[in-house]
Amino acid sequence: MKQKGLPVQKNDIVEVQIEDLTHEGAGVAKIDGYALFIPEAIPGEKIEAKVLKTNKGYGFAKLLKIIKASPNRVEPPCPIFHQCGGCQIQHLSYEAQLKMKQKQVQDVLERIGGIKDVPVHPTLGMDEPWQYRNKSQVPFGEKDGELIAGFYQKRSHRIIDMDSCIIQQKENDIAVQAVKEIASRYGIRAYDEEKHRGTLRHVVVRQGKKTGELMIVLVTRGKELPNKKNIIDDIREALPGVTSVVQNINPKRTNVIFGDETKVLWGEEYIHDYIGDIRFAISARSFYQVNPAQTKVLYDKALEYADIKGHETVIDAYCGIGTISLFLAQKAKRVLGVEIVPEAISDAKQNARINGFDNVDFAVGEAEKVIPWWYAQGVRPDVIVVDPPRKGCDDKLLETILAMKPERVVYVSCNPATLARDLKVLEEGGYKTKEVQPVDMFPQSTHVEVIVKLVLKDTVN
Ligand code: SAH
Repeated sequence: MKQKGLPVQKNDIVEVQIEDLTHEGAGVAKIDGYALFIPEAIPGEKIEAKVLKTNKGYGFAKLLKIIKASPNRVEPPCPIFHQCGGCQIQHLSYEAQLKMKQKQVQDVLERIGGIKDVPVHPTLGMDEPWQYRNKSQVPFGEKDGELIAGFYQKRSHRIIDMDSCIIQQKENDIAVQAVKEIASRYGIRAYDEEKHRGTLRHVVVRQGKKTGELMIVLVTRGKELPNKKNIIDDIREALPGVTSVVQNINPKRTNVIFGDETKVLWGEEYIHDYIGDIRFAISARSFYQVNPAQTKVLYDKALEYADIKGHETVIDAYCGIGTISLFLAQKAKRVLGVEIVPEAISDAKQNARINGFDNVDFAVGEAEKVIPWWYAQGVRPDVIVVDPPRKGCDDKLLETILAMKPERVVYVSCNPATLARDLKVLEEGGYKTKEVQPVDMFPQSTHVEVIVKLVLKDTVN
């Protein structure tokens, strides 16, 4: 059906100039002001595209032919790049990826936060932006009666079998392949999402980069895992680096990987890793940054922006296993961390202990409830660090920060849009955004991590 008044129609073949890049990594072309989004096209390119869908204000098209390529275009090194939804911008040179992320942060801060005239530094990137992930989470399925393990095809729930992923540490790929083989050996059935039957849903592998310790988590639909003992023995034999085999039970019909119940099948409850000189114990369900090299860069920046002299009380909100807290505790007088996942706080307490810190306390709960309670108890921090999930900080937390009036706030964010929204509130409440530093935690993907320093307007720093 033709849509009236639009300069293009479905199935039209058009020759266009790419002008911009969306946050999802698609090229944007304009035809008489009408925007067409074209995945894998790059600004500066002239291309031929086929229109796939037209909405009132914008449409989508498919790249057919590149007439003039951008100098930023590179051949995606991964053979399954076009099918897999994991990476979105392998076709962009790494330098262009870093620039794209800096620009995205700049644009969003201005558009949503009204923040201009603040330096957004060039994105801090990796020397070698491959094989960086310390965690793989692989869905299991079946094809022609055989177990497969890989990735969900773009925009679908179809699992495609995969041998290796070039953003994963090699050890993780090897471990997933070994588990696939062992599970097949014992006739383990994969979970069937539609029928809600079968056993093995996901295999999650985590490696401590510095220690080499490997944790294998088998996520199953029920408590049953046939041939459990043989499976454990075979995993240990095939993968000598394994220090922990864990079963997580997820009986729900859901996309969420982990269920509530976790059992150690063999070995330790944790693996360990170091960031800088600090040793961390990490249990199966605790959050831990996936790019250890860049985590060090991010936390060093957090420490720099927190600008700790030694006398300060610091709050680390959304502290996970206490990683940033302990970085800060190296210098601060006292650090208070808060986090919603009980297992993470139990890791955090252990981490303080094994590193000999006695100036840190951790609480389980919602940051937006615990921090107001601390305020009511008379806690007056000099610095607050927040590192919330994608949805950003709760209003109640922002309100409490404004009431507590710490001299500095360091905001670590994995979502520039909610960051900008929250910065606006903090700016209106008396803070000034001083510096903004994007850090590339997720090369080849469009995800952006950013760290921001804010200061109280009436202080001199
Ligand atoms: N700073 C840590 C963790 C950051 S990820 C690190 O760098 O490792 C965000 C953390 O916030 C996760 O551990 C998540 O469990 C936790 N979280 C999510 N909602 C929360 C809330 N309302 N209050 C406190 N913590 C929360």
